[in-house]
Amino acid sequence: MPLLAAAERDRTLPVEIIPGLLDVGFVRGAIGVGDGGDGLSHLQCALLMEEAGRCWAAIRTTVNILTLVAELLSAAGSEEQKQRFLRPLLAGQRMGWFAITEPEAGSDAAALTTRAERRPDGSYRLTGRKSYITNASYGDFGIVLATVDPSLGGRGITAFLVERADGGYRVETRPQLPVRAVSCCDIVLEGVVVPAANRLGEVGRGLSIAMRAVNSGRLNVSAGCTGIAQAALEASSAHAVARTQFGRPLAGFQLVQQLIADIAVQTHAARQVYQSAARLLDAGADARVECSMAKYFCAEAANQAATKAVQVFGAAGLMEGNVAERLFRDAREATIPEGTSQMQVLQIGRALLGVSAVR
Ligand SMILES: Cc1cc2nc3c(=O)[nH]c(=O)nc-3n(C[C@H](O)[C@H](O)[C@H](O)COP(=O)(O)OP(=O)(O)OC[C@H]3O[C@@H](n4cnc5c(N)ncnc54)[C@H](O)[C@@H]3O)c2cc1C
Repeated sequence: MPLLAAAERDRTLPVEIIPGLLDVGFVRGAIGVGDGGDGLSHLQCALLMEEAGRCWAAIRTTVNILTLVAELLSAAGSEEQKQRFLRPLLAGQRMGWFAITEPEAGSDAAALTTRAERRPDGSYRLTGRKSYITNASYGDFGIVLATVDPSLGGRGITAFLVERADGGYRVETRPQLPVRAVSCCDIVLEGVVVPAANRLGEVGRGLSIAMRAVNSGRLNVSAGCTGIAQAALEASSAHAVARTQFGRPLAGFQLVQQLIADIAVQTHAARQVYQSAARLLDAGADARVECSMAKYFCAEAANQAATKAVQVFGAAGLMEGNVAERLFRDAREATIPEGTSQMQVLQIGRALLGVSAVR
């Protein structure tokens, strides 16, 4: 927290704090002991994410992406890949990013066009552009999804481990509204040569590998959003008690109490929804729908809570550097990555009705 103000202002991530975060259970907690993790439960990991969201959403976003990369390596990596990428990541020595989104392939990820051409020596040449990739400017490797054959559609999509040290890709930073300490980057791959040893999993399994981390990713965002709502509750309550108008604290006005009571109800409900999904996952249930419900509900709840917190602060809540202003911006992020609110609704609808509204 002491680093937050300067880091958000300067749009820099204090990467030196990442090893300490790993030591208290972030990222490592989500990985089994056999692969060098701490083997925490989904609920324990989610509780950590709630606290990260309450303090600093940019850090929650960062550890969420690192967790995603670690989970994919643990699920699909060879022993040799785990030694080169996963173990150093869990030790805080390497930092990875994950790239599926492209300018013309967002919610419809299977429409991606980044090309992976097989070369005679078995290596691959990657060409394309990835968009909005979290912390690609800080990472020293990433997981890139590309197609080996566009005519195969989703069945041609394959995952590759791309290393900065090999050269060949360019990172273009795009300043964004929320989570300002995080970098949001386009990655331009201009014929990057990836050795055969860096293909992650089988050819054509890229999307299904990515799906291995979909539940925990959505759960992590849900818990982080609950943290944002909790922070909105704490900040707006403190302000309502401290600020006086018409000769008494804002807290004494019924309409201000309504705003704060609404934030409290949203926060409480969001916490129940994500914790219930986490418990289902811990019990071994599929819980895909419940994780979608949690992502949808908690992201929207965080937005409502942060908007109401700004209202409690009045003009001060719209000023840069005010906690409500940051929570408001950071909550806006939540409804878009890891599947937009609309895509969660469509998944819930398909599960309930047995009909896909997409294709
Ligand atoms: C801060 C941030 C960090 C990100 N980090 C990463 C990252 O690390 N790696 C990565 O690969 N990607 C990342 N993304 C990208 C993110 O995953 C995509 O933005 C997301 O998948 C949505 O795609 P899109 O932005 O292209 O929106 P679009 O898919 O163009 O959607 C635009 C709007 O249309 C709606 N919509 C689309 N299709 C339908 C439909 N069938 N029915 C109803 N509504 C629909 C959407 O819900 C949305 O409201 C990040 C994004 C942000 C904002």
